[in-house]
Amino acid sequence: MKYYNYYYEAYSAVLGGFVGDYDIQVAGEENPEEKVWVKKYGLKAFLPIAKFFPYSDYDDFGVSRSYGYRRRHLGHDMMGQVGTPVIAVESGYVEALGWNQYGGWRIGIRSFDGKRYYYYAHLRKNFPYNKSLAAGSVVQAGDVIGYLGRTGYSANENVNNIDTPHLHFGMQLIFDESQKEGVNEIWIDCYDIIKFLYRNRSETVKNTETKEWYRIYEMKDPAVDLYLQNKDQNFNNNIKHNTDETPEDNGESGGENNEENMN
Ligand SMILES: [Zn+2]
Repeated sequence: MKYYNYYYEAYSAVLGGFVGDYDIQVAGEENPEEKVWVKKYGLKAFLPIAKFFPYSDYDDFGVSRSYGYRRRHLGHDMMGQVGTPVIAVESGYVEALGWNQYGGWRIGIRSFDGKRYYYYAHLRKNFPYNKSLAAGSVVQAGDVIGYLGRTGYSANENVNNIDTPHLHFGMQLIFDESQKEGVNEIWIDCYDIIKFLYRNRSETVKNTETKEWYRIYEMKDPAVDLYLQNKDQNFNNNIKHNTDETPEDNGESGGENNEENMN
């Protein structure tokens, strides 16, 4: 048990947001059209590809990549059809959203405890994200956040330069903010995590007018409520603070992730 604390910290950093209490809608027993709320405990993280959409994958973590310069693949590629709904694995807030020359249209979502950063890249040309999303938006596990595509490998925005349409899914662990960007980044091999998440897939339906896909079964993740409550609290505290002292520059840098190695 000498290393208990070490393993506990490492495994909690990976799986900490995957399991817990939550409420979710399920199809009614008598009338499957009807949705019924149930309380559950267990796996509350989702596969990043929506239910019933085919994909293929293999363990491709660490293989070399040619675009730009010699680098290793720090993620997991899931090959599928362009337009396949991409699902938020864990609840969190949008930390990055936009173009990156390696990842193309990409979205980065940070877990509320700050320890996990989820990176979804090569999203669809012209219509990459769920249109309601912006930096700072809160998403719940199982929400449709974007659409699979083949953008990236170009300094110009909105260019399809990836041969095989796929979702690049990456998972970064952050024990300390100094590990967010730079040489200390920790990206993990998600192959087995993806196999595990296959047990929990979000079923989606298309809105034919907006062309947007939505989850069918809503969820209430207590982690989201907690985050929003704390945010309100902090907001109110800041207002108080600012009334009796001169406002300071909040110093937000909006730093870009070091994404060269990831796609
Ligand atoms: Zn990739």
